[in-house]
Amino acid sequence: MKIDILTLFPEMFAPLHQSITGRAETAGIVEIKETDIRAYTKDKHGKCDDLPYGGGAGMVMTAQPITDCVRAVDPHGTARRIYMSPRGRKLTAEIARELSRENHIMFLCGHYEGVDERALEICSFEELSIGDYVLTGGELAAMVAADALLRFVPGVLGSEDSAVEESFSEGLLEYPQYTRPSVFEGRKVPEVLLSGHHENINKWRKRMSEDITRERRPDLKNDN
Ligand code: SAM
Repeated sequence: MKIDILTLFPEMFAPLHQSITGRAETAGIVEIKETDIRAYTKDKHGKCDDLPYGGGAGMVMTAQPITDCVRAVDPHGTARRIYMSPRGRKLTAEIARELSRENHIMFLCGHYEGVDERALEICSFEELSIGDYVLTGGELAAMVAADALLRFVPGVLGSEDSAVEESFSEGLLEYPQYTRPSVFEGRKVPEVLLSGHHENINKWRKRMSEDITRERRPDLKNDN
């Protein structure tokens, strides 16, 4: 899989090249590449933003550097083009899983007051939000989306089961997890987890998942 990220701040993406996603890159499972939109501006002062028509606060990213950058990075139009935006479809585990099946994804990161609408239309961007709040830029949002989808790409996680058993995978939140020691500051690990009885362990985990989901997120749908 290839993930292209179009941004005015390519130096913000160090976290994606670390840890699990960094190892996936090293293993050749994914290629993550940031491209500096500013390198494509035709403005002689290197500007990539301007005042909004109609007035109002802040600046708007201009269409020309973005459209030229998109055409250079994806000349054959093979990428799924996604503009990170609070107006977009809200990211869920289901959408992350759907995106993990793509061969090529492009994330466009807005900044300031956003992007000239014509760049989005001309380049056929869909919009994706990471939640009902406003960030200063799309960079953190693109990193969240890339991280969430990469967890579903085969080989990225150590064990294929890890993403299957996690919160949201079956409309449930995850059960409590414990590791050694079996007693910590007087608190014992639930007896059933020490029993070695897999059927009982699975039943306990399922029940805990259902209880926690009912209590914390009754809005989550699960068919179990
Ligand atoms: N004026 C825009 C609005 O009211 O919808 C907000 C612009 S925001 C300050 C700057 C950029 O951050 C956006 O262009 C977008 O790329 C990104 N952004 C902000 N909040 C986001 C969210 N919840 N999800 C995804 N991207 C977001």
